[in-house]
Amino acid sequence: MLGESDRLYRCDFCRVQSYLLPRNVARYVLPHRAPADREIAYVPYWRFKGILFTCGVDGIRHRFTDDSHCAVDNPAFPPSLGLRSQALRLKFVTPATTGTFLQPFGGPRQARDFFMRRQASRQPAPVFLQTQVGESLSLIYTPIFRQGQRLYDGVLNRPLARDAEAPPPETHPVEPAGDHLRFIPALCPICGQDLEGRRDTLVLVCRQCDRLWRATAKGLEEIRTARMPSPEAADAYLPFWRVRAEVKGIPLVNFGDLAHLANLPTVLKPDRESRPFRFWCPAFKVRPATLLHLASALTLAQPPVEPLEKLPREELLPVTLPVAETIDNLKIVLAALARPARQFYPRLGAIDIVPKSALLVFIPFTVGSHEYLQPELKLAVNRNQLALTGLL
Ligand SMILES: [Zn+2]
Repeated sequence: MLGESDRLYRCDFCRVQSYLLPRNVARYVLPHRAPADREIAYVPYWRFKGILFTCGVDGIRHRFTDDSHCAVDNPAFPPSLGLRSQALRLKFVTPATTGTFLQPFGGPRQARDFFMRRQASRQPAPVFLQTQVGESLSLIYTPIFRQGQRLYDGVLNRPLARDAEAPPPETHPVEPAGDHLRFIPALCPICGQDLEGRRDTLVLVCRQCDRLWRATAKGLEEIRTARMPSPEAADAYLPFWRVRAEVKGIPLVNFGDLAHLANLPTVLKPDRESRPFRFWCPAFKVRPATLLHLASALTLAQPPVEPLEKLPREELLPVTLPVAETIDNLKIVLAALARPARQFYPRLGAIDIVPKSALLVFIPFTVGSHEYLQPELKLAVNRNQLALTGLL
């Protein structure tokens, strides 16, 4: 339940509907304009795209980031992609993609650490905490080819400026295209029915036997699900992750501890005070300020849940934020809740949150003219924000 990379991509190449599950990260190529008789080699770049939350002395900030750096040690190649990854149409790398693929150095963990260090160094000190959420890490391959003695940039069809200084790319190790992909047929492992899910979903739904599935390296795995009970009729259900975690460095075991941390002005009944504490966070992409607001409000509310025996017939919003990214952001949720905030921020570095288990919970909402509304919890989510998930 607490796996790292589990985003699925609907496969456009198979006759039977299926999904592609990339190992570690998704890989894309930039389009080339090379002459038809040239052999294309692809140079890998790590790309880090998403939203960074940082907590400094003046509070929690967020910003969008789209950063890249070359994943091959060769001075012929520009150190970053510049604006190419945003300006050009990216194509998914599959086994059918032709060309030679240079092997990237390092792995996703090193690449992510590198970007996080670089981003932190651009923030005013002190930075007590920095986390990321969103699509985060991918490999983008830019095309090159040889013409005579010179190396050409395949995007612009122009010679590379510094090709003479560099070892020839033919000396770099290469790997096959699409070797990182696993094909997942979109069929329910229990009843064989077609599974539903949109193009970049994390969770596939079986409407026949009311089960939800996520892809793992071992195949499809059923997800534990629940819902918040409500006497009111719902128009739609929005997915949230509820995470049980051990918090080290501050006392945070039950609701009484949370009330103390957030300096809530109410006196709690003993049964509420001793209720176990859980983190909550949206399981869908939404603007960062809303993400933090929803996570804080639900974590403070600690709503009740009941097992989801049967999937509701109403609209189920797709799960688009993996639980692994939720876990990265739990400390930011704590920072948003703690009072007095400025005294709490410097303590963040000494706090360690160890996730133990996660549950996908559907919360009922009614649909207003512009918003999803949850009257019991007094929550509103602008519907346009959910349409703008490309921002993340
Ligand atoms: Zn089924």
